[in-house]
Amino acid sequence: MSGTSKHTNSWENDEVRVDVPYSAAGVGTTVVVTSRFTGKVLLMDVGDGSVRDLLAKGNLDFVTELDLIAITHGHFDHVGGLWTLLGFLRMLGREEALNILVPTGCVEIASIVKGFKECYFDTLGFQINVFQLQHGSGFDTDFFKLKVMGVEHYGSENITDKDMLMPAIGYRVSIGNTIVSFTGDSRMCQSLEDLVTDTDFAIIEATYEQHPNPAQKVHLTEIEARNLGKKAKEFILIHKKPDAGKGVSSPR
Ligand SMILES: [Zn+2]
Repeated sequence: MSGTSKHTNSWENDEVRVDVPYSAAGVGTTVVVTSRFTGKVLLMDVGDGSVRDLLAKGNLDFVTELDLIAITHGHFDHVGGLWTLLGFLRMLGREEALNILVPTGCVEIASIVKGFKECYFDTLGFQINVFQLQHGSGFDTDFFKLKVMGVEHYGSENITDKDMLMPAIGYRVSIGNTIVSFTGDSRMCQSLEDLVTDTDFAIIEATYEQHPNPAQKVHLTEIEARNLGKKAKEFILIHKKPDAGKGVSSPR
């Protein structure tokens, strides 16, 4: 799953390895952060195909080593693989509780987890806990320390002319002395700069070549994303439009 291409990327140092096995707007985005000391895994967003991508690493370690899932927002291309992941973990007999972080008010994850628990209540061998986070909050495990910043994102759920944002957050993650940041989906805003600044490695969405509707900015352009990335020591751009999706007018 290593290598670099339009939809695949990876980075590592002595402490952490970051894999983006696949990311495309309107299809799926998954970011896999692995502690090189402990083998523990943090998943940031769980796009369609995330189990397939994790299996491509060649082992089943993630079944037990998955420490935390951090969701940036509820759009389908960021959460679409969660049902499959939960099903796979159940099938493989995971016993450790699974914590999932979401932005406060995110209805999609609550619905998926509620439905999954209803279907498999009697045979689910692990707890699933959902924590709602908002700008300024944090969440620490023994292996990953996360800071949360609210970002500005909305999609086609907004049928008004008003500038209504959906629940959306970015994460700043400490693994030892390394700090990794992930913007999720967002237009340019101050908290994005705060999120990325001085991090060792930034994962930045760069969906647009240019804004299709300057009055209603949903995503970053590649130029905006590159300028933002200069505030980090190193960065990659993800969440680009799929080639087959040129007709997609409103990427998520
Ligand atoms: Zn989105």
